[in-house]
Amino acid sequence: MYLCTFVAIGQFMEKIIEENKQGTQLDLEKIVGNTKKLFIESYGCQMNFSDSEIVASILSENGYNTTNLLEEADLVLVNTCSIRDKAEQTVRKRLEKYNAVKKTTNPGMKVGVLGCMAERLKSKFLEEEKIVDLVVGPDAYKDLPNLLSEVEEGRNAVNVILSKDETYGDISPVRLQSNGVTAFVSITRGCDNMCTFCVVPFTRGRERSRDPQSILEEVNDLAEKGFKEITLLGQNVDSYLWYGGGLKKDFDKASEMQKATATNFAGLLSLVAEAQPKMRIRFSTSNPQDFTMDVIETMAKYQNICNYIHLPVQSGSTRILKEMNRQHTREEYMQLIDNIKSRMPDCGISQDMISGFPTETEEDHQDTLSLMEYVKYDFGFMFMYSERPGTMAARKLEDDVPEATKKRRLQEIVEVQQKHSAYRTQQFVGKTLEVLIEKTSKRNENQWSGRIPQNTVVVFPKENYNIGDFVMVKITDCTSATLIGEAVGYSENNS
Ligand code: SF4
Repeated sequence: MYLCTFVAIGQFMEKIIEENKQGTQLDLEKIVGNTKKLFIESYGCQMNFSDSEIVASILSENGYNTTNLLEEADLVLVNTCSIRDKAEQTVRKRLEKYNAVKKTTNPGMKVGVLGCMAERLKSKFLEEEKIVDLVVGPDAYKDLPNLLSEVEEGRNAVNVILSKDETYGDISPVRLQSNGVTAFVSITRGCDNMCTFCVVPFTRGRERSRDPQSILEEVNDLAEKGFKEITLLGQNVDSYLWYGGGLKKDFDKASEMQKATATNFAGLLSLVAEAQPKMRIRFSTSNPQDFTMDVIETMAKYQNICNYIHLPVQSGSTRILKEMNRQHTREEYMQLIDNIKSRMPDCGISQDMISGFPTETEEDHQDTLSLMEYVKYDFGFMFMYSERPGTMAARKLEDDVPEATKKRRLQEIVEVQQKHSAYRTQQFVGKTLEVLIEKTSKRNENQWSGRIPQNTVVVFPKENYNIGDFVMVKITDCTSATLIGEAVGYSENNS
């Protein structure tokens, strides 16, 4: 997953207190007793946002309230991304900002770095960035209270140990930046796929899955609190496999009983869909090599599992896919798309694409463009190849595609995607679709913004509808990214 976004917590806490007395009352008590102030911001993929909710929960148990003001924070934490060099540069700029605040208005504040960049750099982060007091990897958040006591005693603190079984399944996340309607639920951690361009296996460790019971408890708790949609999260959700705990790669050593009672991703999807039939279910991120027919059948079987799949491919060339260590060919990926479309003809599909991977030729690039023509994705996340230290590609392959060529190819990929996004949104004009209202439209405060099951954004006049309502909307117009319509009534799913 390759998204870079910024989030501050403060307003979230105050807003929740107003809107949902019953649910947060408990939390409120804990928060009310806290005296220390935490400022936390997240970069990168949804896993990092979900992790920041875990961190906020652990620290709310240790005397920290949240603030959105750097100037008053006792502790500032930044959850970092390392997927591209640009993501790391963004974090370094934020540290400069903290330094300015520390020098002027908040000399006592402590600064900590979390996430993938913390795991990649480890204690070197302390040498490179003097403002940093604390470095904590993605599997060590439960150690935060101990590490903070070391910092309070004037020592720097580091814990970047990757775990074989940590899933934070016993931590109830504090919902951050929440609209009270949609939420992330993490189901796996780590990744075993070793794609040659990717740092994730080095920064998040080996794959392990979370106990389905703890996932169901979190989903039921969210439903009780009025949430209407969840996204099951993992670097590679399709290889979810629960057999009593432990690493995915050790499944072969499991007992016959464990193997016989194991829960795979299709099994988990069914459990969640049946537990909350009125709740929308999404999942991210998938890997084509692990995406099985039983998941497609399960999606087609349950109306509340959204017919949308984020299916990164990275390249349309089988030769480049091999260099990337992606365990499928162009043809196998196209067959998977055919299988999805044959069972769910109106399924929304999005992509990740990399331009200019080492040794990529013009012919390979044309293969990428022709694959996009074949699929006509709804939307995508497209980037130039960025060499990441320590990855197989960085060690074995020269970054030999000139920057100008990478840029030109990326531009061509983006243009083709824009054409296809416009083609896909046009397909919805004239139709009446179910929309879950999430927030006020960014562009027009008299309009609501929400999404259809295919994950495309819809805006329409507010009338008497509210956030969290399932509404039937007649689509009257569109742009390449957004559908425009009129509400025609509540959906039967609206309760
Ligand atoms: S599947 Fe590949 S790209 Fe995705 S997180 Fe794993 S190693 Fe990285």
